[in-house]
Amino acid sequence: MSNGKKTVVIIGGGITGITTAYYLQKEIKENGLAIECKLVEATHRLGGKIQTVVKDGFVIERGPDSFLARKLSASRLVNEVGLSDQLVHNATGKSYILVKGKLYPMPGGSVMGIPTQIGPFVTTGLFSPIGKLRAAADFILPPTKTEGDISLGQFFRRRLGDEVVENLVEPLLSGIYAGDIDQLSLMATFPQFFHVEQKHGSLILGMKQSTPKPKQGHTSPKGIFQTLKTGLQSLVEEIENRLEPGSVLKGLRVEKIEKKEFDYELTLSNSEIMRADAIVVATPHQAVPAMFSQYEFFAPFNHMPATSVATVALAFPEAAIQHDIDGTGFVVSRNSDYTITACTWTHKKWPHTAPKGKVLLRCYVGRAGDEAIVEQADDEIVKVVMDDLNKIMNITASPEFSIVTRWKQAMPQYVVGHKERLEKIKEKMTEQLPGVFLAGSSYEGLGIPDCIDQGEEAVKKVLHYLQSGTKEVIEVS
Ligand SMILES: Cc1cc2nc3c(=O)[nH]c(=O)nc-3n(C[C@H](O)[C@H](O)[C@H](O)COP(=O)(O)OP(=O)(O)OC[C@H]3O[C@@H](n4cnc5c(N)ncnc54)[C@H](O)[C@@H]3O)c2cc1C
Repeated sequence: MSNGKKTVVIIGGGITGITTAYYLQKEIKENGLAIECKLVEATHRLGGKIQTVVKDGFVIERGPDSFLARKLSASRLVNEVGLSDQLVHNATGKSYILVKGKLYPMPGGSVMGIPTQIGPFVTTGLFSPIGKLRAAADFILPPTKTEGDISLGQFFRRRLGDEVVENLVEPLLSGIYAGDIDQLSLMATFPQFFHVEQKHGSLILGMKQSTPKPKQGHTSPKGIFQTLKTGLQSLVEEIENRLEPGSVLKGLRVEKIEKKEFDYELTLSNSEIMRADAIVVATPHQAVPAMFSQYEFFAPFNHMPATSVATVALAFPEAAIQHDIDGTGFVVSRNSDYTITACTWTHKKWPHTAPKGKVLLRCYVGRAGDEAIVEQADDEIVKVVMDDLNKIMNITASPEFSIVTRWKQAMPQYVVGHKERLEKIKEKMTEQLPGVFLAGSSYEGLGIPDCIDQGEEAVKKVLHYLQSGTKEVIEVS
């Protein structure tokens, strides 16, 4: 304890860590708590995977470009830091799936690839008649019998058949995790599908009943995503501006954490020692076993996969696109001979991101089992992406500029059994490392709102821990 105050150290300054610091410091200020809160970030900037480049009138996201609007913690945080006037929904428009070299419009009424309207599925060219018949087996198959976790692939292939899975469900769902649906855990990623199936028997009928119908007279529904016109990094900057002066240490990596009799000692990369009464570890999971090297129960994190991807932003004048397509973008099925896994026509989905008369495309490369491309030089990646785009859009000119961003081992994979493994680790932490908490994209959801939720939850856990251990922290300042 220093100055009679308890010390909380948050490790990692991505959205999870800065949310934790923001809400914890807010609690401390509002309730006059005798707690000091420090944030330690290994690099020289906050934001982690959130990075925006503003260039020549373009707003380009190197990492995440938006968040799901229905998960309210993100817009609440945006309001907290005074950015609500910058919040925008995506423009709605057609989206496509590229299957065996051809673009197909997403069948109307599909929710994450699951049909909720029969008509568009019967008429789409995305599946063969046999594939459609096989999907109809969903109406008669009994619910899945499972004691524990299974893969998303196992679950969906049984209900809808391989063709619907490979041409629609897989490109949509694995796009979110850059993962392999035959490895990803159903219970840790989309447990709602399992619950719908168990309740209704049929996944299609269950999704139909549980999906809200569009309201009558609403001709232009709002997009389901939101972002900031000023770029997502402006959220990071506004949060940083509100953190206590001197509470953020950048360019310092936490290398080792040791439990002492009453507290913890953290060794930083400059060999300095920090002490802490409670710790929130908001780093990617790969960093955890090294910091706690004497605790073998973190070993499963050494085997938890994380996929490497790269985003490739390309800016053009409008005239360069010979074959303009009405819509906001497409995802690519694995059975297509393409390297890109998805492309957003960013200037259409997010009109604020490009100046008038310009086009901004953002493509992804790399996914589970297919990551070598991410290691290539920028020029090589741009060439491969342009070759792919040309097959669809016939682009005559070279881009005015391109920005390649590599995200190595950046997409944590919640593979089958993820929840159970995490629970075991947390139990061990409660026994052997009281007051240390994990939060962030490696654990309970990797979307920005999920990370914010985990940051808010970590604040509650830290306060509960400190307050249940001692009354000293509740002090009117
Ligand atoms: C390309 C891409 C696109 C995405 N798109 C979307 C999207 O559109 N919408 C969405 O909701 N989500 C998206 N995501 C997911 C989302 O961006 C991430 O899950 C989220 O930003 C992760 O936040 P985090 O704070 O948990 O981790 P990070 O952002 O990884 O932050 C962790 C921080 O910990 C620091 N650190 C690591 N080790 C140490 C140490 N020993 N000591 C001190 N500091 C350390 C790191 O430097 C880093 O700053 C995307 C992710 C990627 C990679």
